Amino acid sequence: MPELPEVEGFRRRMAPVVLGRRLTSLAVFDQKRWHPAEGTRADTAISGAVDSVDRAGKMLLFRLSNGFALAMHLKIAGQLVLEVPDQTRLVGGHPYPRPGIELPDPSTRFLLEFDGDVRLWFNDQRRFGWLRLLPSPEVDAFVAGHKYGPDPIAPGFSVEIFRDRLAARSGRTVKAALLDQTCVAGVGNIYADESLYRARIHPSRLTGSLDRSEITALHRELVHILEVAIPVGGALMRGNRKVPAEDEADAGRDFLEAHGCAGERCPRCVARGDAGQDNAPQIIRIVVAGRGTYVCPGCQAIPSSSP
Ligand SMILES: [Zn+2]
Repeated sequence: MPELPEVEGFRRRMAPVVLGRRLTSLAVFDQKRWHPAEGTRADTAISGAVDSVDRAGKMLLFRLSNGFALAMHLKIAGQLVLEVPDQTRLVGGHPYPRPGIELPDPSTRFLLEFDGDVRLWFNDQRRFGWLRLLPSPEVDAFVAGHKYGPDPIAPGFSVEIFRDRLAARSGRTVKAALLDQTCVAGVGNIYADESLYRARIHPSRLTGSLDRSEITALHRELVHILEVAIPVGGALMRGNRKVPAEDEADAGRDFLEAHGCAGERCPRCVARGDAGQDNAPQIIRIVVAGRGTYVCPGCQAIPSSSP
């Protein structure tokens, strides 16, 4: 968290607001998270108008009209707050700080101001997120340096491409492969768990043990859950738990059925009904690839041939 859907959902809402606006100020509240390319400083970006807002993996890229660009990564706890003149706020990424709080607060790392009184706050309670300023001609090389795998919501992301990416990681668990940004870009803990649950594949299965129909199912469920999550800005989480939507603005964000649902009855096993509602297996939390991982012991069994 934030993963591809949180970043892409915010990007799609933010882009129409900031495109064409000039950056009037770039305030750095935390020098440690600020990475200007050699020969640049915060002033360098000023007066550039936003030509495009793109995404690479979980990274956001703002290309400016003055030949410079800003690359931004929210890492595990970054939050973006876009303020427009009528004081409405658009919040994306991590749930904290809470949306109504006065900014800046102690977690504020950057403030980008645009003409027309539009502000973009970058908050991060964990201080892993970063902002980089670089000349636009260096953007492609900078992105390439991250060796991102294919983007799972790009039209060209086929089952065949996915199978090849997994085949190159046949000795690893499928959960680890999905978290590897060089395998596919943008997937993190939430959507790895959720797509594996929906494809009925245990996360600790070795990638090389998956048959063709399982890879097809995982591809389908991964793309599907991302497409469910993006328009609503991603899943609603508090810490490691899924929480119900609190208001209309969050409606549709409680779509998770496995990740963050420890102790809840597996909805698929309940629907199947042979054990009865009260006896259906509960979602449990285990650790795979070093991460808290949510599975249903009833419908994501580990085949006996797997370790
Ligand atoms: Zn189940």
